[in-house]
Amino acid sequence: MTSDRLQLAVPNKGRLVEPTLTLLRDAGLIFEDHARSLVSHCEDFPLDILFVRTEDVLEFVGDGVADLGITGTNLLAESGVNLPLLLELGYGRCRLDAAVPQDSAARSVADLAGMRLATSHPTATRAFFAERGVEVHVVPLSGAVEVATRMGLADGIVDLVSTGSTLVMNGLRSLETLLRSQAILVGAATPRAGQREAIEDLETMLQSVIAGRRRKYLMMNAPLACLPEIERLLPGLESPSVIPLAHEGMVAVHAVVGADEVWGLPGRLKSAGASGILVVPIEKLLA
Ligand code: AMP
Repeated sequence: MTSDRLQLAVPNKGRLVEPTLTLLRDAGLIFEDHARSLVSHCEDFPLDILFVRTEDVLEFVGDGVADLGITGTNLLAESGVNLPLLLELGYGRCRLDAAVPQDSAARSVADLAGMRLATSHPTATRAFFAERGVEVHVVPLSGAVEVATRMGLADGIVDLVSTGSTLVMNGLRSLETLLRSQAILVGAATPRAGQREAIEDLETMLQSVIAGRRRKYLMMNAPLACLPEIERLLPGLESPSVIPLAHEGMVAVHAVVGADEVWGLPGRLKSAGASGILVVPIEKLLA
């Protein structure tokens, strides 16, 4: 690799594409759409985005063609390559489950001993069953894993699941989760000289977007007398900012709360005396 610019490999097809581009844009990177080229040069940061097949991302990083890559935990586990996981990105969540037909006698993965398991994740599957000391016959397939038992190819499967509805549609029942996956940022085993600072900058920006997405900014006005009750209602570790208002005895209260804690909270704050309650998204947050 000769470029002085940081090279980031990202998927060019599939379910990780849209959330990955959204994350990079939310982090403030300005670049052209990948539909026109295989490489996009960011205008505001010395970064080139390489659009490659999801399953090739790790190859690019492993071979030193890219400094960084975005892929799934499952693909890192499957590749067997030992690249450092720099950040969990919070999207592309799924699990790798062992499943059997509804009418199978198997109740746990131990019951799969001696059985044939179809999967497009043979490495992760072998590693999991070896660790459990359960001997299985792995049937590697590159797709259509969920129909393998119906076709008589296997007695069970190991496949990616997000909601579980594909398993149900194919008459399958999950036995156990082998691993949980989400989109991740991986780095090179040995970062290129001179790139450390740029990598840290990118990591910080991505991290701040991910942290911001998990929280909301809450603002309200209230009589000073209501403050103890309002503080009691506010979840979170940090104390809120309390700012005096022009009207005597009135304050503005600002707080950062978990996005999953906001449901129902505005109503409770109103009952406690707050008014002008705003719930605002956070673009970036650095703790
Ligand atoms: P795709 O390119 O669309 O086949 O998806 C690639 C990656 O998306 C997988 O390797 C997983 O890391 C992730 N993913 C998230 N949810 C799912 C799912 N329900 N099925 C398959 N892959 C998923």
